[in-house]
Amino acid sequence: MHLAAPGMRLVSRVLQGTSRDIFSSPPERRLCPGSTEWELPDNNFSRSDNGNFQMPALAFNTWEIMDKVFNYSLFPYLQNGDNGRRVVRIEGESPCEIPGPGPGIYSFTELPHLAGTEQNLLLAKKIQTQWKKSGLDSAKLVHYDVLLSYPNETNANYISITDEHGNENSRKVRMRVHNINKITRIYNVIGTIRGSVEPDRYVILGGHRDSWVFGGIDPTSGASVLQEVVQSFGKLMSRGWRPRRTIIFASWDAEEFGLLGSTEWAEENVKSLQERSVAYINSDSSIEGNYTLRVDCTPLLYQLVYKLTKEISSPDDGFESKSLYESWLEKDPSSENKTLPRINKLGSGSDFEAYFQRLGIASGRVRYTKNRKTDNYSSYPMYHTIYETFELVENFYDPTFKKQLAVAQLRGALVYELADSIIIPFNIQDYAKSLENYATGIYSLSKKYDQQLRDHQVSFDSLFSAVKNFSKSASDFHRRLSQVDLNNPTAVRIMNDQLMFLERAFIDPLGLPGRPFYRHIIFAPSSHNKYAGESFPGIFDSIFDIENKADPRSAWKEVKKHISVAAFTIQAAAGTLKELL
Ligand SMILES: [Zn+2]
Repeated sequence: MHLAAPGMRLVSRVLQGTSRDIFSSPPERRLCPGSTEWELPDNNFSRSDNGNFQMPALAFNTWEIMDKVFNYSLFPYLQNGDNGRRVVRIEGESPCEIPGPGPGIYSFTELPHLAGTEQNLLLAKKIQTQWKKSGLDSAKLVHYDVLLSYPNETNANYISITDEHGNENSRKVRMRVHNINKITRIYNVIGTIRGSVEPDRYVILGGHRDSWVFGGIDPTSGASVLQEVVQSFGKLMSRGWRPRRTIIFASWDAEEFGLLGSTEWAEENVKSLQERSVAYINSDSSIEGNYTLRVDCTPLLYQLVYKLTKEISSPDDGFESKSLYESWLEKDPSSENKTLPRINKLGSGSDFEAYFQRLGIASGRVRYTKNRKTDNYSSYPMYHTIYETFELVENFYDPTFKKQLAVAQLRGALVYELADSIIIPFNIQDYAKSLENYATGIYSLSKKYDQQLRDHQVSFDSLFSAVKNFSKSASDFHRRLSQVDLNNPTAVRIMNDQLMFLERAFIDPLGLPGRPFYRHIIFAPSSHNKYAGESFPGIFDSIFDIENKADPRSAWKEVKKHISVAAFTIQAAAGTLKELL
């Protein structure tokens, strides 16, 4: 792909500055003469060796307010004061109100989220114009009128304040909460490149552009990747290239309010998408750390990810002449097989959810991440806070923009290969291996209730039998695939359809218990952490905490039911791989 680090930096900065450009008259910024210093409450900041900061989550707000405080980032000014005090010190002329502890912070939370504002429409139009200029066949605005979510008074959100070790803090915090309870209009930007051979087959690259506050990392580090990938495909097209399949680019709105833009579009187009989608690649934040690559994807994509990361240069210090695959493998090997890098199960928490968990479209997400062994916190310390600024990325996370470049190259290459390879680059044998691992895993978990399994006659035999049948069908399928006549369009299309529809075969229209929109029987967001993935979620959840269930007989009956559902689904999926019924 034709992507360069300086381009990434520029696009990232321009994107984050976009709302600034569209205000007709910039608001005045008051400057204070002399030096200004704010002392920060104890323990509010600490710095780890790798330059990451720990900080309490402070405020939520909109992209729009960047206009008012764009240059007011706290970061360049954060210093260690005397006697270990942590202070923000600004020499010379400085903004009187900075987004930090102090009176200034309150005003930010009162401004509305970007969704539903005039500025948001202008921003969507700007992206639409850029995409058209890049040479896409079409770029449309698609709007929805939605009620942006707000806290439920009778079932308030739980806010956990933790220290740098991940321990919960019992201190009381006073919060000022501002909500707007009204229907607002949100805008997705949908761009397309029509496929030359199979225009009715879709590869989707989508990421959100709305953020809490400035969104320096989330989503700008991903939204800029989306812009760069669009431009790169535009360049290819200007040289006469056109993909075999249709590529759809999506800039989603209102992700932070509950994946609204991406889910609305998935629902509106559900019939076409489930009949025609080959894959969905997510383009949310491209960094959450700067240590190594992180991949979460369907097992169908493992081989493609290995292949492409071997072709991309590692952006890591000390790996100058090595591939992304090599640094990734060395820094984060898989716990099951040390000869391969780790790949995680898909959970949720971003826009791929409706596509993977609900519709069963093969999906994947890639980004740079922290060191999982030493950095024991979820997401990243500034996640969704006012401190997530462009300066945070430029000064601390990715000064050379090489990590974001590597992520852009990988996301772009995934889309390229999925859209342009004659045979869809999915590997079904990896799905078979994963199913074997997950079945063994859930069985081992159940063994701690060995006596109850016998008392209630719970058997995993049907599950293991279905997995075995699936493995056999997968091997047979791959043998036939290696012999397919690539010059016979019907034969190619038959195999490609089986590849495309395999993920769909794991969907149960009835959904998981109590979660009708999560319908994938093999994977679901964990019931205990929505961001993480869980395998065999139906069985897992029915066994979870089973010793404390009031009625053990019905609880074990439920376990048996979910083993049957999983066994049936895998057996049925194996059936779709056969040449004939
Ligand atoms: Zn995001």
